[in-house]
Amino acid sequence: MHDRIVARARTSTLTAVRTVFRGARWPGDVAVRHGRIEAVGVVAEEPGDEVIRCDGDLITAGLVNTHHHLYQWMTRGRCVGCDLFGWLVELYPVWGRLDVEDVRAAALVGLAELALTGCTTAADHHYLVPRGDDSVFDAIVDAARTVGIRVHLARGSMDLGESRGGLPPDHVVEDLDAILASTESVIARHHDGERVVVTVAPCSPFSVTPELMRASAELARRHGLRLHTHLAETVDEERDVLDRFGRRPVDLLDELGWIDGDVWVAHGIHFDDAEVARLGGAGTGVAHCPSSNARLGAGMCRVVDLEAAGAPVGLGVDGVASNEVGGLQPELRQALYTARQRANRAEAFMPTDALRLATEGGARCLGRDDLGRLEPGFRADLVVWPGDDLGDVPDPLAGLVLGPDRRARHVFVDGEPVVRDETLLGADERALRRDLTERARRLWT
Ligand SMILES: [Zn+2]
Repeated sequence: MHDRIVARARTSTLTAVRTVFRGARWPGDVAVRHGRIEAVGVVAEEPGDEVIRCDGDLITAGLVNTHHHLYQWMTRGRCVGCDLFGWLVELYPVWGRLDVEDVRAAALVGLAELALTGCTTAADHHYLVPRGDDSVFDAIVDAARTVGIRVHLARGSMDLGESRGGLPPDHVVEDLDAILASTESVIARHHDGERVVVTVAPCSPFSVTPELMRASAELARRHGLRLHTHLAETVDEERDVLDRFGRRPVDLLDELGWIDGDVWVAHGIHFDDAEVARLGGAGTGVAHCPSSNARLGAGMCRVVDLEAAGAPVGLGVDGVASNEVGGLQPELRQALYTARQRANRAEAFMPTDALRLATEGGARCLGRDDLGRLEPGFRADLVVWPGDDLGDVPDPLAGLVLGPDRRARHVFVDGEPVVRDETLLGADERALRRDLTERARRLWT
């Protein structure tokens, strides 16, 4: 069904002489040539420039989503009163019924929603491979190409089923050797280091074995790839790891070779002071997912302390089954509120801090030194935000972070248009949603 909804052409600016975004209220003009930012501020006109008027609007670097489970769009609005373990136990069997076309449909909608809300790079942690069919990863990559944004494809995995003391039912986990062979194959099929970046990503301490964690780290480092997993999301996880291993989650990961500068973890909430210092010293990144954490009552990440210790911190939507909002832009406001609530101080976290997390902090988590800043030489991943309602707001960036949820006016990746005039160019957004709704209904009958 997806074939008939992918058909709109994008015109490329990679071949144009130069594109100039002119007259934005912040930061002024931006010039783009050959997929890179050439100049920011005041740009003199050149013959042949393609000019895009941005009067009154804001331009930022494209947002970077450091943690997502795109497939979860199939199971929104369920288990709304559950904590993490209760929520997982109810949803694992449903996720076990997903097929490849379901994952494709969810990835198309999830990535479209991200693009429309200003996200240009998305990390998808996909750890469900029903019946061992790893073409689910091909489907996610296809969806990213259709929508037009970058994907950091985290080849997730689970090998610890219920019968061996894990949380997931046995029929949704894979065999360790099959996981490693498939991961090698996914790297060979898809990793290009720019538009599709593969990451090795065992799921969580309560769904994988220490053997899989060690073997995954070895495999990733042999290929020069990064590692990702869930860590310290809930007090239940901490108790489970203490019961089974006699140590705290960070100590366990450290023993397995995972507290290092090529790793970023999702959530990272329940760290003591010494653990925050260890993570910062090692340069281990944290994907902060404030709305998901709030929905599941998981706790509040120590963002200010982690950044002060030197840890990269980015923002994540997390799956839409625990967030219900698929856009990254509202997470900026939520991150600011969460940091201030945790610190009991308003000045602890400012709008520019939230924007930094969502752009360069996320790029650091993903190991991308070519993304996340609106500066000459960086890739031309940028967002033009409508500023029509912010004309009377003294600081437009504060208006963007604290004001109402908004969609991007235009989105460019590598200088190529992905969203123009709030419309996705690569596919018909409404058709994608209709297709997904039909598929999701089927799961529950
Ligand atoms: Zn997650």
